[in-house]
Amino acid sequence: MSITQSMQFTSGAPSTDRRYDPHYDPLVSANPGAGRAYAPTYWVASAGTPPADDGPISADIDADVVVIGSGSTGMSTALYLAQEHGIQALVLEANQTAWGCSSRSGGQGQNASGRLTRSQWIERWGLDVAKKLDREIRTGFENFKALTQEIDCDATDGGHLYLAHRPEKMAYLRNEHRVRNETFGYETRLLSAEEVRRDYCDERDTAGAMLEAEGVGVHPLKFTFGLMRKARALGVKVHTASPVQGWTTVNGVHHLRTPGGVVRAKRVAVCTGGYTGQGLNPMLKNKLLPILSNSVVTRPLTQAELDATNFKSHTFLTDTRTLRFYYRLLKDNRLQLGSRSSITGADAQDPVHLKLLTDAIARKFPPLAGIQIDYSWWGWVDVSHDMMPRIARPDPAQTVWHAMGYGGNGVSFSTWAGKRLAERVAGKDGGNEVFQLPIYSSPLEYPNLFGMVRSEAFAPFRRFGQYFLYKWYWLRDEK
Ligand SMILES: Cc1cc2nc3c(=O)[nH]c(=O)nc-3n(C[C@H](O)[C@H](O)[C@H](O)COP(=O)(O)OP(=O)(O)OC[C@H]3O[C@@H](n4cnc5c(N)ncnc54)[C@H](O)[C@@H]3O)c2cc1C
Repeated sequence: MSITQSMQFTSGAPSTDRRYDPHYDPLVSANPGAGRAYAPTYWVASAGTPPADDGPISADIDADVVVIGSGSTGMSTALYLAQEHGIQALVLEANQTAWGCSSRSGGQGQNASGRLTRSQWIERWGLDVAKKLDREIRTGFENFKALTQEIDCDATDGGHLYLAHRPEKMAYLRNEHRVRNETFGYETRLLSAEEVRRDYCDERDTAGAMLEAEGVGVHPLKFTFGLMRKARALGVKVHTASPVQGWTTVNGVHHLRTPGGVVRAKRVAVCTGGYTGQGLNPMLKNKLLPILSNSVVTRPLTQAELDATNFKSHTFLTDTRTLRFYYRLLKDNRLQLGSRSSITGADAQDPVHLKLLTDAIARKFPPLAGIQIDYSWWGWVDVSHDMMPRIARPDPAQTVWHAMGYGGNGVSFSTWAGKRLAERVAGKDGGNEVFQLPIYSSPLEYPNLFGMVRSEAFAPFRRFGQYFLYKWYWLRDEK
């Protein structure tokens, strides 16, 4: 008998606490709970009754393919496995369907993947790779857009307005605009601050913008519920309240221990994003930095407030700060705005983080200063070593694959990542040169602090580094 990997979490008996835990921190807790309530998000409050699921695992069972995590990555992986490869996966979700980022995001579906811009792709990988990567990500975006038309998810196909938060940032946007159009064939437009204020909204913080036509805002939870409904209609089983709390591999079979029984799987797709516990699998330990992002949703704006802020569009907005703000007017005329948050889960409820967002509302839209906040929440974004995702098989000797590391840009690309992950799990990735792109061909790596060699030894210091980087970025963004 060969045991290739053995791991038992250190958390002891599974928790029976079903309450939402505002302090959950993936670098501290072994896993995100078992059957915990959703975060108190606007999306949860407005998504309607969740689709039926298959309940917790209640006995030891066998499965061909297990998908861990039921966010948009996990559900699209399961959907495409069933739809395109005839494989009915079994999905294990620690809490509720789409409990992690997929019920907490800004819902901004961009023509992007990871945090790097197209000009940064060229710097990093050269023009040829950048062009191939663009083709791949654009195809993924078009696929996402088609899905948003099939699924009832309040989709708004209004593009993306990228706002310069100070005049000097217009040079950066002009360059990005040139690269997008001349090199990649897009048709972005540069707008003056006056045009933004006249045609989109009276955003007082902006010095001008780049408008890209590609961008679909969605209700992310309705969208993920839609993926789940499609997947279940094809025979996929979704087991909620079933966290993987131990993982042993015996003779190539993965024994995934959940509170209700062991699931024995031949192949495993890990789709746990920023909620990947340090103990889930040694191949993933310290390979992602989970970063908290905060979001608020105001009460609906009155007609007088809509007039005063001149909101004329539901196009979503982000700004050029490194610690960027993302915002948009939602379907029912509430304003959603989000940005970075605390560094640790323990500190997440400190009012200073909420104040960062309410101050931004007052600065960007002065008539809304002090407006009532109806919803406030946060979630863990999965940041990889180079800010780009990885859809990979970390060890060719093991039947384990993952898709993660979107760095806060996963609403649209996660569905395409799920499609590619399904191809890999089904063994259909041979011979397709798209899998030579860096997001598919190289693994997640350990952190690299201050340009030094990559090493797991740096992992415990990542949050110190993050603390100083946040200070530095704030100075650079604001001073
Ligand atoms: C506040 C916030 C705002 C964001 N805004 C945007 C945006 O506007 N645009 C954009 O493109 N992206 C945004 N993102 C990122 C985006 O939401 C995600 O990239 C996207 O939803 C894909 O998520 P996922 O499916 O990979 O992971 P998740 O949705 O986080 O799903 C992972 C799931 O794995 C489960 N899990 C973890 N461990 C275990 C275990 N041991 N056993 C079983 N299950 C487990 C978790 O419970 C969780 O439900 C935002 C994220 C946050 C937090």
